Amino acid sequence: MPVLPEVSTKQGQLQLLVDGKWIKSQSDESLAVFNPGTGAEISEIPFALKEEVDAAVLSSQSAFEKWKEVPLSERVQYLFKIKYVLEQHYEELARINTQNHGKVVTESRGDVRRTIDCVEAAIAAAYTLLKGEHLDQIAQGIDEGTVKEPLGVFAIICPFNFPLMVPFWYFPFAIVLGCTVVVKPSEVTPLPFTWLVELIQKEVRLPPGVLNVVHGSKDTVESLITHPLVKGVTFVGSTPVGRHVYKLAGEYGKRAIVQAGAKNSMVVMPDADMPSAVEACIGSFFGNTGQRCLAGANLMVPGDIRKEVIEGLRERARSMKIGYGLDEAMEIGPMVSKKSKERVVQYVDKGLSEGASLVLDGRGTQVKGYENGYYLGPTIFDGVNTEMTIAKEEVFGPLASIVPVSNLDEAIDLINKSTNYGNASSIFTTSGKHAREFRRRVQAGNIGINVGVAAPIAYFPFGGMRESFFGVLHGQMESVDFFTDRKVIISRW
Ligand code: NAD
Repeated sequence: MPVLPEVSTKQGQLQLLVDGKWIKSQSDESLAVFNPGTGAEISEIPFALKEEVDAAVLSSQSAFEKWKEVPLSERVQYLFKIKYVLEQHYEELARINTQNHGKVVTESRGDVRRTIDCVEAAIAAAYTLLKGEHLDQIAQGIDEGTVKEPLGVFAIICPFNFPLMVPFWYFPFAIVLGCTVVVKPSEVTPLPFTWLVELIQKEVRLPPGVLNVVHGSKDTVESLITHPLVKGVTFVGSTPVGRHVYKLAGEYGKRAIVQAGAKNSMVVMPDADMPSAVEACIGSFFGNTGQRCLAGANLMVPGDIRKEVIEGLRERARSMKIGYGLDEAMEIGPMVSKKSKERVVQYVDKGLSEGASLVLDGRGTQVKGYENGYYLGPTIFDGVNTEMTIAKEEVFGPLASIVPVSNLDEAIDLINKSTNYGNASSIFTTSGKHAREFRRRVQAGNIGINVGVAAPIAYFPFGGMRESFFGVLHGQMESVDFFTDRKVIISRW
């Protein structure tokens, strides 16, 4: 299969979108942006100055005053146009995603598809989202009801791993409800979203200030959260940063939805359909090069079938094609950055020093023609116990740790006790009883039954429990009560 041509991305520094205009930041602090498949520098972001963040928030606030008055039926039309832009530029966006993130282009297409799903869900739900309640004649001549009103400006803070989909978990819902947003993409993968916003600017013509974009990291995020005009923040990223964001939001009286890190366990039961369980595990542990908050990390296999599962996984993982994501024949792309690759390698060293045994070692992976890319092959440890660092901490790379267990009870117990995370967990079984026990007892927000990546469609709120989530309301559909306030109206006529 041919390698797809690269989309020619702009050289030089990305700009900030403030009040409908792209402006060059005056900051002298910047960060290079790379193509992890080739190691080439492809762009640069500025760390926006506080004044620039202020300008973006002020613009969103003044846009809000007018945007909230735009009839819902008109706001929905903008989402239709955004969906059209996404469909029209589907391939180009997928390729840019691959060029900046590294994931193989089929996965990038999935990222764009899921982004479109979010827009569709927001369109489909727009009227029901804003629906109030009404009761006539609660007493003689008295009626009572509720209306929902948009709150104002929200900050949307994004991680590196789904550069298009994650901002869209919130952005279409916020704007269709009448709010305005300032989005801060990841500093590691800022290109796909910024590119998309340029297209939206040209082709959709959202009123200036409804969507602003700033670049940066810690200081930019803190300036947004603490800004008096920002009503709340949605954050998706790691647990330590998420905890900090949640605390800061609380201190400043802001609403917050914080989706954080993960350490997900999968269980393959002896009664599972083995070939499909192995294939699902391959996708779960190694898809997106293990850089998914729903990726498998620990694999628990009760009893004698462990050897069979390990053999199946090893053989299939060994056969996986690793290479540049624009080569459509590839199944695994590089890690997102040199630093991320080094982190995972350190975890492999740690696993070895703590006594786990390496079944498959991806550390030496080289890709011909792409020697400067950050490639790391699937890596599998057996003999892992849940006291080991590799079983407890989020590795976020293509590393599977097999934890021997004697039965399902022990597996569930270890899943709940070995980490404080609670993002996702899956079981592979043909027994309804096992599946039921698992879904009832495992403390994770997204449960898969014979599904390796339990990713909810946009119509369902993305789950998350324990230290994988901070807040009360989740994203997507539930965000209506996040982005709006409710008034109760009691009237006598
Ligand atoms: P990260 O926490 O490093 O960064 C996330 C965002 O926070 C970025 O925009 C970054 O600029 C900003 N940031 C970094 N340091 C900050 C600080 N000290 N104060 C304020 N903001 C700061 O996460 P990442 O490496 O970009 O993404 C990977 C993480 O995201 C993983 O832990 C993964 O599990 C998690 N994730 C979770 C979900 C979910 O739904 N639970 C989804 C995707 C990714």
